[in-house]
Amino acid sequence: MKKSIVLKNGIKEYNLKNEKILAMNNIDLEINLGKLYVIMGHSGSGKSTLIQILGLLDTLTEGMLYINGLETSSLSEDEKAEIRMKNFGLENRINHYPKELSGGEQQRIAIARALVNNPNFILADEPTGNLDVKNEEIVYNSLKSLALNGKAVVVVSHNENIKKYADEIYYMEDGKLRK
Ligand code: ADP
Ligand code: MG
Repeated sequence: MKKSIVLKNGIKEYNLKNEKILAMNNIDLEINLGKLYVIMGHSGSGKSTLIQILGLLDTLTEGMLYINGLETSSLSEDEKAEIRMKNFGLENRINHYPKELSGGEQQRIAIARALVNNPNFILADEPTGNLDVKNEEIVYNSLKSLALNGKAVVVVSHNENIKKYADEIYYMEDGKLRK
């Protein structure tokens, strides 16, 4: 089975008291190996929601998510955890590394940790946070080389500097995804 993440008609709704928030509004997306996908968008547009859905950290309200052809809605929490462990490198700006380390060093550790299990899919949510440009380039170059080495890399960011590394660029706006 081809290794891929396929999202079809993905809808994610959050319920807050008496308000409904449509964080993902009918999104179709296919992630394949060997490419770096960039998803740009302003704060609140739904980028983190999308990454959490793709990484099996949250579930869709409606629609289908397939991992390597396997439809995921009926998987148990244990099965999802196992897929996450084997197939995903989930990278977040993690702020609890020792304070003695620079932002760049902390970020490199976060990436190294995400790669421990040699995952095929690397999902990065705003990986450069507030790094300076030099460290930002180190992070982007390492993500790019992962894609060049056959991994699927998805980066969500509002930082325009990532765009020149992208094989495919999408834009998220009010829960909608467009090219
Ligand atoms: P981004 O990462 O692009 O800043 P998010 O995916 O975090 O956007 O949020 C998209 C929308 O969904 C926002 O309106 C946000 O307030 C809302 N949202 C995100 N997570 C939750 C949650 N757990 N409960 C309720 N609303 C949420
Ligand atoms: Mg976010």
